[in-house]
Amino acid sequence: MERTVSDRNRVIVVGAGPVGLVTALILARAGVPVTVLEQAGELHAEPRASTFHAPTLELLDQLGITAQLLDLGRQVPRWQYRIFETGESAVFDFGVIADETPYPFRFQCEQVNLVKIAAAELEKISPGAIVFRANVNGMKQDKDGVTVTYGHDGRIETLRGAWLVGADGAASIVRAKLDVGFDGETYPAVSFTVGTPFAFHEHMPDLLGVNYFWSDFGPFSMFRTKLMWRVGWSPPPGASDEETLSDANVQAKMAKMCPAGAPFELHTARVYHVHRRVAARFNVGRVVLAGDAAHLNSPAGGFGMNGGVHDAFNLADKMIAIANGADAEPLLDYYTRQRRSAAVDDIHSTSDANYRRHREADPSKRRELLTDLQALIADRDRHRAFLMDNALINSYRRSIALA
Ligand SMILES: Cc1cc2nc3c(=O)[nH]c(=O)nc-3n(C[C@H](O)[C@H](O)[C@H](O)COP(=O)(O)OP(=O)(O)OC[C@H]3O[C@@H](n4cnc5c(N)ncnc54)[C@H](O)[C@@H]3O)c2cc1C
Repeated sequence: MERTVSDRNRVIVVGAGPVGLVTALILARAGVPVTVLEQAGELHAEPRASTFHAPTLELLDQLGITAQLLDLGRQVPRWQYRIFETGESAVFDFGVIADETPYPFRFQCEQVNLVKIAAAELEKISPGAIVFRANVNGMKQDKDGVTVTYGHDGRIETLRGAWLVGADGAASIVRAKLDVGFDGETYPAVSFTVGTPFAFHEHMPDLLGVNYFWSDFGPFSMFRTKLMWRVGWSPPPGASDEETLSDANVQAKMAKMCPAGAPFELHTARVYHVHRRVAARFNVGRVVLAGDAAHLNSPAGGFGMNGGVHDAFNLADKMIAIANGADAEPLLDYYTRQRRSAAVDDIHSTSDANYRRHREADPSKRRELLTDLQALIADRDRHRAFLMDNALINSYRRSIALA
């Protein structure tokens, strides 16, 4: 059966991840009709982002979401790089930028919480706006609108809208159909992350809510949300996913970090590839990319979802102006300029520096890095500058100020 729905002003959003849902919610609250097409049968709950940064919390506060999130996560006002064997550390303190934001902390909270809250808020004002099991496989644009085709419960359906937002993640079909470049690199090492309810903080001295360890058995990170500890590391080069995920290997690695926890109760475990890529353009005619569909970065620092939510606010504001009669092309070009610059000039450079610093394998170079970080922290201006970059405050402000 084929079904065609027409709507002159409708914005179609592909993807019910954090970026698609936040975009849709802002539009719906402003009275712009919106439909979200999501290929999965339900909202994704897999463990991905856990760090929210200050500007993201400030933006989500405009939607009344931050207060709900704050109950579900953990505020981390101090975080560290640390040498596992010696306990020497460089501790960053958001207190030095407390005059810059009402949220001077990294907020550790599972991404699914934002997704669920945004979906529930959208459902309140626009029931049925999210169509699940809608696997978008084609789109065509003309001067008046965009027609999307998608598989839905064994049928091919079509939906017509005025604009289309591709918030369909790293393997975006929307980006592929636009045929814009997605240049960059895939980092050589894969990453692995596992969740456990084990109380590391009761057994490892001086643990903070966010910890980047250098150790003789490789770098690893430990983040504490309200529900669990998330532990991440890179498996040895050439290890298969099966080897990486094997219970024996995971248990052995974690026992080196904290023998008291073995055998660990493991809740979630996932291998993922790490990329640094950006789309050549974020807008082509009536189709616009946002979030992972537009740019990918190493998770070191926790920027992907945050940057994507910044895209969502920037883009939704412009789409509301367009729905109210503003000239579309210059506004959408401006969106690309602002958010592509944030992705390349700020997020890529900071996440890449974080990735390389944490993966330094040479112990003498690691020691130099630690000494440099300690010196930076001792200098209040440099400490502030480092945190302003790493909290994405500079990135967000620069993108807004860009002409
Ligand atoms: C281990 C890990 C840790 C991370 N930690 C952090 C962190 O701490 N902080 C941070 O900011 N970022 C982090 N990230 C990155 C963050 O998870 C992503 O940047 C974020 O999910 C991007 O959101 P999105 O909405 O753009 O895309 P996604 O979350 O990927 O959502 C895309 C949606 O589109 C749907 N979709 C895809 N194709 C189609 C189609 N053809 N038709 C219909 N629907 C489709 C998908 O099912 C999905 O629901 C981390 C990532 C990983 C892997």
